[in-house]
Amino acid sequence: SSVPLVTLNDGNTIPQLGFGVFKVDPDKTSRIVADAFEVGYRHIDTAKIYGNEEGVGHAIKTSGIDRDELFITTKLWNADQGYESGLEAFEKSLGRLQLDYVDLYLIHWPAPANDNYVDAWKALEKIRESGRAKSIGVSNFTVEHLTRLLGETDVVPAVNQIELHPEFQQREITAFGREHGIATEAWSPLAQGALLKEPNVQEIAEAHGKSLAQVILRWHIQQGNIIFPKSNNRERIEENFDIFDFELSDDEQASITALEKDGRVGGHPDEVN
Ligand code: NAD
Repeated sequence: SSVPLVTLNDGNTIPQLGFGVFKVDPDKTSRIVADAFEVGYRHIDTAKIYGNEEGVGHAIKTSGIDRDELFITTKLWNADQGYESGLEAFEKSLGRLQLDYVDLYLIHWPAPANDNYVDAWKALEKIRESGRAKSIGVSNFTVEHLTRLLGETDVVPAVNQIELHPEFQQREITAFGREHGIATEAWSPLAQGALLKEPNVQEIAEAHGKSLAQVILRWHIQQGNIIFPKSNNRERIEENFDIFDFELSDDEQASITALEKDGRVGGHPDEVN
């Protein structure tokens, strides 16, 4: 069974499951992404700040996979926000990736203290116009940041990539996204591993003969979230891809949804600069 595609507000499609490379060692990235391709992943989520765009690019180049079968995301780092600096940073990312275009380019954080994200967005609009990013979006934007962006610019972001997992579901932001056609990408879908002890989830996992990680990732899929769990480990990379041969019942889904506890594990969007 294969990975579902989600249609974005610009008509492009994105594989709902991908592979994220945050904290993947730059020296090992090419090999690990090659593993992910071998397992069947076609969607890779990287960022300038991860320092491993070159490794992703090398894996793409040597994979033999047609470019149009891949979905590659990278992100504009906070220090590069602004119009001219945004355009420049994008060209450098493309160069490191050895690509002519990316499928999705994101503003990584709003960094509101710098007050540059509106200008940065205008650079992304320009980049989209040029065809060098097929889709553009944001990351870590709150309702406040999104509202300002929608008020002051033309293109509605295709996605907002935010911390989201059963213990931190961001209901206000996802509702705003649904209302405005902004798809939700859930980063740290496994809460960076912290979620894998819930007795409740354990029970569901046993009932399906699946792992806890698989159950949580399946919960995301059924919620409609776009996810890209990260692992350095080949078995886990395979495990995280193998979530399309079972389904959680409405009750099971609801009991995982009930784990909400405002449990943020990453940085606060107003504070990361
Ligand atoms: P994650 O929730 O995917 O957790 C990754 C960790 O969970 C791994 O390091 C491993 O320890 C554990 N794990 C993974 N698979 C497992 C399995 N099958 N069984 C047991 N443990 C397992 O966290 P993440 O890496 O923080 O997030 C995923 C991706 O989201 C990143 O790689 C990156 O692409 C993106 N991200 C984006 C932002 C942002 O600000 N936009 C921030 C963080 C992450």
